[in-house]
Parts: sequence; structure tokens; C-alpha cells
Amino acid sequence: MSIILLTCTIILLLISSIYIILEYYADKESIRKSIATTGIIVASNSSAAVAFQSPQDAEEILQALKANKNIVSACIFDKSNNIFAKYPDSIPNKEFPSKPIKKGYYFEDNFLINFEPIVQQDFELGTLYIKTDLHFLYNQMRIKVLIALSLMAISLAIAFLLSYYLQKKISGPIVALEKTAKIISKDNDYSVRAIKASDDEIGSFTDAFNQMLHQIEVQNQQIISANEESLKLAAIVESSGDAIIGTSLDLNITSWNRSAEKLLGYTADEMIGISAVRILPENQQSKCLAVLEKLKDGSQEGSFETQFLTKDRQLVDISLAISLIKNSDGTIVGISKIARDISLQKQHERLIIENEEHLRLATQAAELGTFDTNLATGSINLDVRCRELLGLDAETAEIDYKSIYLNLHADDKKRIKSIIKSIATGIDLDSYDIEFRTVGQDKKVRWIRARGKILINEHQKPLRFIGAILDITNSKNEELRKNDFIAIISHELKTPLTTIRAYIQLLLRKALQENDNYRISALTKTESQAKKMITMIHSFLSLARIEDGKLHLLKEKFSLTTLIDEIVNDAILLNPSNKIVIENTADISIYADKDKIGQVLTNLISNACKYSSLNSTVTISCEKSNRKVKVCVKDEGIGISPKDQKKLFTRFYRVEHEQKKTVSGFGIGLFLVAEILHYHHSKIELDSIEGVGSTFHFTIDLA
Ligand code: ADP
Repeated sequence: MSIILLTCTIILLLISSIYIILEYYADKESIRKSIATTGIIVASNSSAAVAFQSPQDAEEILQALKANKNIVSACIFDKSNNIFAKYPDSIPNKEFPSKPIKKGYYFEDNFLINFEPIVQQDFELGTLYIKTDLHFLYNQMRIKVLIALSLMAISLAIAFLLSYYLQKKISGPIVALEKTAKIISKDNDYSVRAIKASDDEIGSFTDAFNQMLHQIEVQNQQIISANEESLKLAAIVESSGDAIIGTSLDLNITSWNRSAEKLLGYTADEMIGISAVRILPENQQSKCLAVLEKLKDGSQEGSFETQFLTKDRQLVDISLAISLIKNSDGTIVGISKIARDISLQKQHERLIIENEEHLRLATQAAELGTFDTNLATGSINLDVRCRELLGLDAETAEIDYKSIYLNLHADDKKRIKSIIKSIATGIDLDSYDIEFRTVGQDKKVRWIRARGKILINEHQKPLRFIGAILDITNSKNEELRKNDFIAIISHELKTPLTTIRAYIQLLLRKALQENDNYRISALTKTESQAKKMITMIHSFLSLARIEDGKLHLLKEKFSLTTLIDEIVNDAILLNPSNKIVIENTADISIYADKDKIGQVLTNLISNACKYSSLNSTVTISCEKSNRKVKVCVKDEGIGISPKDQKKLFTRFYRVEHEQKKTVSGFGIGLFLVAEILHYHHSKIELDSIEGVGSTFHFTIDLA
């Protein structure tokens, strides 16, 4: 606005000044011309009056000058320069010039002076003097100046309005741009955009400005993310568990992270600027430099194992990864070294080698065979001894399950196959301790004990099955002989004991008839002890038979109701301090080995009494459903922990109870229960809560 107004003012001033000056001179000239014309006319009119020396006529002619109010005075000089006539009369002569000064017209002070010769036929008769007041000219000029000033003011006002309008049009968008620029510089927010107001140059300027902002924003974003990246990287480098060391091309250290400090004992301040060769033991220097050279020409990867020297001159085993640091145009500007302390790993490796050697010697001394099965690929790795024990050729490279089955003893084949299948399919993730027979290449039957463990991954998936096998033929034969011995002894003891029991019963009946209380009590106790012994001998006999695989069932149809009644009656006699209750047992017949099922029930009821407190209740109940009967023996005893529940049915397993330390037993009762039920195609099951009680139950077919 200022520029426009200033320009307009200067131009208007210039134009007005020129106009006024020109006007002034033009007006002056026109006055001069009009006065000259008047002079010429008056001079020629008065020539006759002068020639005839008639001052009245001359004054009369001068009176005509009245018509021009600005002519203040006039006179005619005669030939001898005396005033001949004057106008107006009132002006004294001394007010006129004493003689004509010079011919022509000139301006003097604020007057126009005119000396016009009066000529007749080339004779100069006198001179006409006219004095014209020029004040009117100045008044006129003043009015013109005023007009010019008014016009200038109007023009400036119009110029002001015009510039105000233009200012909005032109500087509006510029001001908006300026505001946008201010916001951006204040908030550093380059996502702000200026609004395009028009399609003219300013619009293009706004577009260019926005385009520039966009580029700045993109670059800014790139700078921010590059900064973030480098901060992240710096944090990673600093917090890395590996020592990370940066060097220049001439191996001077440029960066040294915290792990490097920890590993080598030097601080970053001590090491930056120092040659990295300092931390290399002498015997490793040439190796490292050679790797570096090969890395530079791209002929080798920069990872290898070496050693570093710590501040206190100790050697540490290091896995070192060297990489080249390149700038954006691919020029190598430095070297980065990542060093991982592998001294522990090296120590472990040495330990593993030692342990493997120990193991090898131990397995050799114990004549153990070892196996390692990869459950994912199915590949089987057996050592020489293992192959020998499994009856396999020592040379065969590929061994599969089939070749193992081939040499199993016919009686064990089915059992071992199903165990191997459940291991291979990952059904059972337990440890294994099994015994079986193999037929060797020498056709010798061997008893083998195999102990193995399944290794699983973090998702409980089986990975490997590893273990060892041992030839137990000798001890097995010993055991079989022992079993035979137990079987013979038990059998031999059973017959006299049964006779003893029969005599006791006879004597008891007699004592009852005679009402001899002392004998009744003594004989009752003797009979119960004899019964306990018979049960025990029965158990040993059954155990020996089961071990030998000679347990035979004598199945018959019998009333389970009656059997339960008989066993409970005996149990009441043997366990007078427990309350034994029968529920829902009426009218049940089954087809099974009566003696063996009796043994099962006797064992379960005797355990229920043994492992509960005095006066607690033991309940025997039955539940018929779908041609089967479920038999439950429930107690309110000490219960069994989940850990023990798993092993409860194995041979000679007894739970260690503080409060039941004195309870006698061999740990064969539940093993027999499980085996007998197994022979009946049934299964013993258990629900138990420690401190609340246990329920043992099994299901058997109805007759
Ligand atoms: P034992 O001759 O020791 O009774 P068993 O094979 O009959 O041998 O039982 C094995 C172990 O199981 C016992 O030592 C006992 O700890 C535990 N057990 C058996 N029955 C019960 C029961 N009803 N309540 C608590 N523990 C029991």
C-alpha cells in the first residue's frame, strides 16, 4: 500500500508541478501577448494624437485601457521623452518612469512593463508605457494549485482504495504464507500446508511453497527415522551382551561398548584412539590381520574363533565376527568387531569330551549297550554292544524297528512292539525300564533290561529316546530260580497250614459247644493269624506264578454277592476296629476266577482298613450297568498323593508314611490286584485325595 501510495503521490506531485509551472508560464505568455496586442492597438490609435500634439485625444485613447482592470497605469512619452498623456489622471508623473527605459516587454516585481513605440510612416513619434499588475495571475495560479491539490487528494484516495483492495488480493495470500511459515517454525510441524487462494502467480507460489514443505516434511521424517534408527542401534550396541568394538581402517579403536569393558577390563576412555592390536595376543595377530585382508577383498567370511588379551593379561576364548563398515557410496570407512566370550562354552566342550570318555569307559566296564533314537526322523543309533545284545549284525548301517522286532523272543514280541510303538508315536512320555528276551546271532536267548528316557522339546513333543541296555540273563535266571523256590515253599506251606486251620476250626467249634471262653478267644485269634498267613502264602504263590508267566485262571460262574459277604465277614474278624459296610451288592453273578477275585477284594479291603484310622468306615459297593458291574472299595483313610498313585501298582512299591510306618506289608498286594484284573481283561483304578480317602474300583463282566 505504501509503495502504491508513494508512487502515486510522487507521480501526481510531478504532474501537478509540471502542469502548474506550464500553466504559469502559459498564462504569463498569454497576458504578455494580450497586453502586447493592447499596446500595439493603443500605440497605433494614439499615433495621430501624438503627431498632432493633442494630449486630450491621447488621454481619451488611453482611457480605453480601463477595460483591462489589471492595467494599473499607462502613459505616452513624446519624442523628447516627456510625458504627453497618462492614465489614470490621478497618478502623479513621478510614479511613471522618467523616460522609456527599453523597448519591449519585461516582468518587474509583480508587474508586466511594456514600452511600445508609437510609429507613423516609419517615424517614431513617441513611446507607449503600460504597467500591468500581475496579482490576478498569482490568484489564478493559487486556484489552479488548489484544484491540482484536490485532484491529487481524490486520486490518492482512489489509489488508497485501489491499493487496499489489491493489498487484500496480493498480500492476503502472502500474509497467509507468512502465518503458515511462522506456525511451522514455532511448532516444527511440517505437515501444515498453506491454503491456495487463487490460480495466479501467488497460487503457483503457494503450490511451490507447499511442495517445498512436503519435501522438507519427507526429509524431516527421514532424518527423524534415521536418528531413531541410530539411537536404537546405539542402545542395542551399548546393551548387547557381546563386546562390540569399532575401529578405523588402520585399526584405531573408535567405539567400545559396555560389554567390551566388562569382558576386557579396559574402559572406553582408555581404549578409544588406541590400536586394536593391543587386545590381540601375539600369536593371534597375524591370523586376525590375514582374515581382515581376505574380508576386504571379499574372499572370506569374517567369523572365526580366536583369543583376546584382557587388561590383566588373561586370555579369553572369543568367537569373533568382523565386518566392514561402508559409507553410502560403498567405500570402506571402518571395521566392526563383535566378540562373544566363549570361554565357558570351551570349558563345557572340554568337560563334555571328558564325560564322554568316562561314560565310554563306564559302559565298557559294565558291558552296557547304548541306543539313541531320533523320534522325528525314526533313525536309530546303536553301539556295537547294543547290536550284539539285540542280536543285530555289527556291520548293518541302517537299523529300523523291524530289524529289532525280528530278534525278539516270540513270547515278548507283542509286548515290546506295543511299547516301542507308543514311544515312537509319542503317546507315552515316561521313562522306561523294561525286561525282555532276545535271540542272538549265536541263537542264545538273553534276558535284556532296557532303561530309557524320552527327551522332549519345550512344546512337550518327543524328540529322542535314549538309554542303555544290559544283559541280565544271569540275574534273571537267579530270580526265576528264586521264584520257583518261593512257589515250591509257598505250595508246601499251604497244605499243612490249611490242615492246621481246619483243626483250629474244629477245636473252636468244640470250645464253643463247651462255652470255654478262654479257648474260644485263643482259638479265634489263632485262626485269624492262620488266615493271614494263608493269604500271605497265596500272595507269594500268585506273585511267583505271575513272574513266571504261569498264572492260570479257573473261570466259573459264581455269586459276587456271596463272595463279598464271606470276605467282609473275614475282614470284620481281622479288623475289628473298622466299620465295614456293604452297599448294593445283592444279586450279582460274574464269570471269573473266584479265588483270584477273592484275593483282589481281600487285598483292597485289608489295605482300606490298614491305611485308615480306627473306627473309620470302609464301604464295599457295586453298581451294575450295561452287562458289567463296577466294584468299589472306599475308605476314609490317609489317601495317596498323585505322585505315588502312578507307581502304586508296581512290584514291591510302598509309600513312605510317617503315621503308618509300623504297618506291615511287602508292597505286592496292589501289584497282584492289578495283574489279576489284567488277566481278567479289567483294570484297577483309583480316585484318591490325600487326607480325605481313597476309592479303588474295577469293572468286570456280569455272568
Ligand atoms: P502293602 O503290603 O504295603 O500294603 P500294597 O501293594 O497292598 O502293599 O500297597 C502298596 C502301597 O500302597 C502301600 O504301602 C500303601 O502305602 C499304599 N496303599 C494301598 N492301599 C491304600 C489305601 N487304601 N489308602 C492309602 N494307601 C494305600
